Parts: sequence; C-alpha cells; structure tokens
Amino acid sequence: MLPFLESDFGNPSSIHSHGVKAAAGVKLARKRVAALLNCSPQEVYFSPCGTYANNVSILGRARFIEANDGGRHLITTAIEHPSVIGPSQHLESKGWRVTYLPVDKEGIIDLEQLKSAIAGDTSIISVMWANNEIGSLQPVELIADLAHEHGIFFHTDAVQVPGKLPIDVGRNAVSALSLSGHKFYAPKGIGILYLRGGENVMPIAFGGGQEMGIMPGTESVPNIIAIGKAAELARIEVAKAEKKLRDMQRIILDKLAPIEGLRITGPADIDKRLPGHVSIAISGAEGEALVIKCDLKGVSVSSGSACHKGIIEPSSVLRALRLPDSLARGSLRISAGQFNTREDCEKAADLIAQVAAKSVKTGGQTL
Ligand code: PLP
Repeated sequence: MLPFLESDFGNPSSIHSHGVKAAAGVKLARKRVAALLNCSPQEVYFSPCGTYANNVSILGRARFIEANDGGRHLITTAIEHPSVIGPSQHLESKGWRVTYLPVDKEGIIDLEQLKSAIAGDTSIISVMWANNEIGSLQPVELIADLAHEHGIFFHTDAVQVPGKLPIDVGRNAVSALSLSGHKFYAPKGIGILYLRGGENVMPIAFGGGQEMGIMPGTESVPNIIAIGKAAELARIEVAKAEKKLRDMQRIILDKLAPIEGLRITGPADIDKRLPGHVSIAISGAEGEALVIKCDLKGVSVSSGSACHKGIIEPSSVLRALRLPDSLARGSLRISAGQFNTREDCEKAADLIAQVAAKSVKTGGQTL
C-alpha cells in the first residue's frame, strides 16, 4: 500500500503519469481478486465495503428487475447479516414479497423448503455462504444450481469465507458474491462485488462512472492494492490456513463442549462450520459481561447478545435458532485467526471455560 500513499497517489481516472500508475495498481489488484475467485477481472468490482456489495446485489438487481417488469419475489434467510436483511425489508416496504427461510437448530436452511418457496415471480435468491455469528455453512453450490435451473439471480454473502475455504465461481453457478477486505487481512473499508458476466445490476448511488458505474466514486487505491495482495495470499495459503484453523477450532471445541450449562451454537459437525469459528451460549450469563471479563484477561471475543436500553437482547440469528432467551442472552463467539497459535487457543479456551463454569454456578451474578 505504501507507494500508493506516498508517491503513486494519483487518481486512476486521471490520464497523467500519477494517474496511470494508480490505474495500473488497480488493474493488478483486480487480476489478483479474479484469481482468488477463478473468474475474469471484468467480473470484479471494488466496493467501499461488504455492506455496499450486499446492498448493490439486492437493491441494484431489484432496480434492474423493476425496470424490466420482472417478478417481485425475493427469497432470503432469517439469519442474514443486516446488510442483506435491511435491503430485503426495504423491498418489502416497496411492495415486494419476501420469504425469509427458517433454519434448523444448527443454522442451516432446508433445500426442500427453498424449492417450495420458489414461485413464478421469484427473481432474486440471497443466501449467505457462512454465518458470522454461528459459523453455519449453507449448501451454496446446490442453491446456485437450483437458482440456475429456474433462471433466478443468486447472490451469496461470502464475506466470512476467503482465506478459510476455497471459492471457485468457475465451478458453481453463483450470479453475484460479496466479500469484505478486513475478513482476510486487508484494511477495513474495502469490499468486492463479483458479478457474473451477462448478469445485470443497476447502480444504487449516482456519480462518476467508476467501476462501470456500479460503484461510483473515486476508488480508494491503497485499500484496493491491499485487497488485491490479501486476495493473492488468501489464494496461495487457503489449504494450509484451513487446516490450521480447523486444528485450532477443534482445540477450543473440545475444551468447551463438555462444560455443564454451556451449549455449542451452530453446527455440531465441524465440517459444517466455518474453519476457526466457535460459538457458544452459556445458560443464565450475559454475553457482553462475558466479553468484558475475557477482555480483562487479554482474550478478545464477541457476543451476539447486546444490551439495548438496559435489556440484553439476543440477535435475530440466535432467535432464529429458537434457543431459550436465558441461553441466547449468554452468547459468545470465538474466531481463531491465521496468526493465532495452538497455545493461544488453549489459553483462551481455558479462560472461557473458567468464566463459563463460574457463570453457570452463579447464574451470571459474579460477572
Ligand atoms: N456480511 C457478513 C457475513 C459480515 O460478517 C459482515 C461484517 O462483519 C458484513 C457482511 C459487512 O461487511 P463490512 O463490514 O465490510 O460492511
């Protein structure tokens, strides 16, 4: 990134030499992202973040459908990120019919239910690849095939996936896919929209013609350079990273699963989970209090239950699992990263086990 902050700081739309150098950097980054996804560089659009890529995929596709008098039925799931749920609710408020597919107790949709939800007016399906809160992986390739068979645009929020599992849009029939740089070690504030050649979305913001007019606004060149490099590393290292993350995930799961009053949320089968991801719920505990307790001991985790106006509210994802509130309020998410070690994971799991055991004994009161 540094040369693009210090010397090659031109605007890639400018035709002078500073601009030309910046444009060459952006071109290389686009090629690197295309290699990660196994697509053509022309199918890669840089976006300000994962949220924007999700919004354009749904709202931009909906604009295109409306302009062409297509059917106004969207199918998504009850456990999507707010950047998919929000646009879906917006379309609903504009008269679209939206089906929010339920998930089973492990957070996975039922393909038969998806099949029965598809109707003559279904024009968009959006199902996330991996859930950020409970780590569940959806059968994205099968969903893509089904959507393809029915000629339906299929978008997947794959923000959690790069660097942890291989992504190959050359092998699956996904129409659009969103990524976010900071999930694979690029800086925050840069994302990717993959849009299959021949598929159309219309812009949802208006400005210059950058990124074929789909993402107008001057490109964040240093961040684009960074996501290109991160994509290259993610592609080269994914097999090694997946193995390491699985190993660390097993260490944490093995230590936490036997604790009384603690439930693993999301899939029990590790192969159905995002590598490195562990999510739990502790009966009677309060998620945010658990996070602070762990933080004081140097372990950064997060919770899906947040305090709103003095009341601990489980997230919509945890609600979709139909967990009792007393359990869902005590949710915790632990994500091992590529730069963690087995020792980090053992230490973190021991600490969480201690905090959890104390919390179960006292109904969360000592926190
Ligand atoms: N989708 C998922 C599954 C996420 O986990 C996130 C961020 O955490 C996003 C979308 C949004 O990405 P961004 O923060 O880049 O807007």
